[in-house]
Amino acid sequence: MNAVEIIQKKRDRIALSDQEISWLIDSYTTGRVPDYQMAAMAMAVFLNGLEGAELAAWTGAMLHSGETLDLSDITAPIVDKHSTGGVGDKVSIPLTSMVAALGVAIPMISGRALGHTGGTLDKLESIPGFTTALDPAHFRSVLTMCGLVLAGQSDTLVPADRKLYALRDATGTVESIPLIASSIMSKKLAEDLDGLVLDVKVGHGAFMKDLAIARQLAETMVDIGAAYSVKTVALLTAMDTPLGNEVGNANEIAESINVLAGGGPADLVEVTMALGAEMLALAGVESDRESGRAMLEQTRSNGQALEVFARVIEAQGGDPKVVEQPATVLPSAPHRAEVAATRSGFISTLDALWVGVAAMRLGAGRERKEDTIDPGVGITILHKPGEAVAEGEPVLRLTYRHPARLEEALRVLEGAITVSDEAPAEQPLVIDRVS
Ligand code: URA
Repeated sequence: MNAVEIIQKKRDRIALSDQEISWLIDSYTTGRVPDYQMAAMAMAVFLNGLEGAELAAWTGAMLHSGETLDLSDITAPIVDKHSTGGVGDKVSIPLTSMVAALGVAIPMISGRALGHTGGTLDKLESIPGFTTALDPAHFRSVLTMCGLVLAGQSDTLVPADRKLYALRDATGTVESIPLIASSIMSKKLAEDLDGLVLDVKVGHGAFMKDLAIARQLAETMVDIGAAYSVKTVALLTAMDTPLGNEVGNANEIAESINVLAGGGPADLVEVTMALGAEMLALAGVESDRESGRAMLEQTRSNGQALEVFARVIEAQGGDPKVVEQPATVLPSAPHRAEVAATRSGFISTLDALWVGVAAMRLGAGRERKEDTIDPGVGITILHKPGEAVAEGEPVLRLTYRHPARLEEALRVLEGAITVSDEAPAEQPLVIDRVS
């Protein structure tokens, strides 16, 4: 095999064989193919795509570039959920405890905040003591004991993706549907799942701003799932405005606990229920979505979901008292500032992208991978789109530590809120379903 010939084939739109793809990914992972050749290949894929069989082979080669989980000893159905990332998107945190309370095993491997979008691992690590870096034995024991584990990716799982993602980031080749789909699906398929629910976010605060492209990504990932006999369903959900009322880390944990305890903002609960009902259907627990939602609702009212979360926190080294006293256990930065409505009327937009960037500037996110997170800063949304506000009424409350960072965040938020005379038309949260 010869890397140059493989690159030339893709450049000339000739389909690659399974053997060529698996040799290329394997050689790149082990260092025999250098970055400059793989960069050329990534650009050729960016421009010319990968056809169905090529994409399945590419994903398979990534998946087998390292170790995979063997969960064959787990008797419960194994289902996971993945979100393409948004602002205020803490859904995984309440969702997984609710679904696990109904007997589904969830080996969730999550990511970190990058850019304006938050990351589940950073949110969880705002709980004092909570660790997401679990060795394989610890990972398995938490899953067996609690039916749920919430961890980060180990170095040995899909190493090809770690290398290739960093290369794509530096070569303008991130925004490619086949490369995104294979990157996400290789990591999820490595979890030995029976089913997978994807939350593909669409809108100004999402990776995918355009509905047609988001649908294409969803369909591509569902097709990859089918090629590997993992039942996969995707919901396309709105990300023009932040989900829920909290954007940050510790404050998002507090909001998640509120959802688990039966409360929480309507939009966050709605997306959580919609995804949860799909997970229960894939797990074979309840195929009727309405009945599934009722079961999920029950886990909130009977305390089972909160109990699962407390057990997982304890098993992963965190302080389980957080579920009873979030305000005393979770960190919070010392200062508050507000952003007020500049006129009376109805909030018509509260832009997720700018709220996410502002939260990042406060220290809740990362501009670069090596940045550290401040778990106690964040933004609380006091009024959402559609609500009436009077001139001068606070719409956002910023919790901050450093005045210079506050200044930066306030600058970003100029123009993030629009107030109109008329209430905006209500937009669906769940836009479409792809299976
Ligand atoms: N998330 C991933 O895991 N991979 C991508 O390529 C893009 C988003």
